[in-house]
Amino acid sequence: MSTDVTDVLVIGSGIAGLSAAVAAAEELGGAGSVVVLDRAPRAEAGGNTRWTAAYFRLDDVYEPGPNFVDDVIGFSDGRTPRWYVDALLERLPETMEWIQGHGARFRRMPTYFINSTRPRLQPVGGGEGLLSALRPAAERLGVTFRYETTAHRLVTGDGAVTGVEVTGPDGGRATLPARTVVIASGGFEGDTAYLGEQLGADAGTLLPIAPSVRLNRGEGIRMALAAGAARAGQWDTFHAEPVDPRSKDAEALVMVFPYGILVDRGGERFIDEARGTVDETYESTARAIWSRDGGTAWFITDQSLRRVDDHERGLLTGVPPVRADTVSELATALDLPPEVLADTIDRFNAATPTVGSFDWRRPDGLATVGLEPAKSNWALPLVSPPFLAYPVACSIVFTFGGLATDVRARVVREDGGAIDGLYAAGECTGLYHGKYPGGTSVLRGMVYGRVAGTDAARSSHA
Ligand SMILES: Cc1cc2nc3c(=O)[nH]c(=O)nc-3n(C[C@H](O)[C@H](O)[C@H](O)COP(=O)(O)OP(=O)(O)OC[C@H]3O[C@@H](n4cnc5c(N)ncnc54)[C@H](O)[C@@H]3O)c2cc1C
Repeated sequence: MSTDVTDVLVIGSGIAGLSAAVAAAEELGGAGSVVVLDRAPRAEAGGNTRWTAAYFRLDDVYEPGPNFVDDVIGFSDGRTPRWYVDALLERLPETMEWIQGHGARFRRMPTYFINSTRPRLQPVGGGEGLLSALRPAAERLGVTFRYETTAHRLVTGDGAVTGVEVTGPDGGRATLPARTVVIASGGFEGDTAYLGEQLGADAGTLLPIAPSVRLNRGEGIRMALAAGAARAGQWDTFHAEPVDPRSKDAEALVMVFPYGILVDRGGERFIDEARGTVDETYESTARAIWSRDGGTAWFITDQSLRRVDDHERGLLTGVPPVRADTVSELATALDLPPEVLADTIDRFNAATPTVGSFDWRRPDGLATVGLEPAKSNWALPLVSPPFLAYPVACSIVFTFGGLATDVRARVVREDGGAIDGLYAAGECTGLYHGKYPGGTSVLRGMVYGRVAGTDAARSSHA
């Protein structure tokens, strides 16, 4: 491997890494070098970005969704810093202009949140569409890509970053000297042991939402912590989605869970399945399933699901449901205790309301009476066979905990001072707490990746 000193060395080629690399190369204008490392071979590189539909929490290309700032902060109970979100929005127009200048296109698309009808903005081609715009731009600008190259450790001297230790395609170790380093290597969702330590729970039953999850093992975060970086975001939780564990597809979502009941392996209900719209409740529902024995539940419904006209939009699993004509046959097919399941469904049916009208589009107040746990909306009795059942497990998309950065995307220490030459963007930076505000992860990776690349290029020549 070459030992020339690189001006901007970027770790990771997802949205944050490619945004940083292109922005750095543009800033350097041919008068400096930019190198991108990715542990994956070229065909598999691009991280979670490659697999996402990449919804943006925007109403239009330059227009954030309503209450963008307050929602993102509110979802975290005030723990996400306002300056981060304000600066994100401030840079939104120029960043959207920039990415469109590289050929990306956007359109408004309905989401799989069937009872939250607001469409979201999506890049044509999803996350891969963005990468396909940025990769050739990077190549045209002279950025060097090193695939199958994994970063392990930062090299520092006099408090500043001076390079990165890597393992190359041949398994050999090398040090790549660099004036600045941008960490864009995702969260630590792919390191089950480390993840379990941070979550304080067994992470072994979490399903990766896509194959890319396994590539993000947190080395970027840990190497910066070892160099004195402060932590940000909530380290003991993660972005969760409810999926069908039988499916081999990425993001095999089961987002129709409020239109029936969820039972655990013992055949019992354990949660109010319909305490709000799907977008408000899917993450906490997935986490609640994870905490049950075996980390799996069954979503049980009947032919009343047909009354939800758009239910197929919320079912991304391609595997058909288990079907049965009676509750007893259903219990046998699902390997659930028959008497318990029959009792659960009988008690649920007896508690469904006799007045009120069903409206799948919005919380309709059709709530159970005197049942624990209650079902607060869409409580139709399960009396129309054949019964249908989907297994539902909790998948991990990305972790919330990561590095603390400043408005210039520099990695900061506990005292707020920046570590010389070190930048970070995307999932590897800690931001979220509690509940994920959907449609913000790719967006922030792009905005702050570009900020990081531009600033790193400037400071490499300062
Ligand atoms: C199925 C799915 C659906 C999603 N839906 C949405 C959505 O609709 N909207 C949204 O905003 N977000 C969504 N997300 C989340 C979003 O895609 C990611 O959080 C975001 O793309 C992360 O970008 P990133 O650049 O930080 O990391 P990534 O895109 O994950 O890139 C990290 C890169 O770093 C490389 N890498 C890791 N460690 C090392 C190392 N030590 N050395 C070298 N290389 C390394 C990896 O190989 C990878 O290429 C979704 C994610 C998935 C998987």
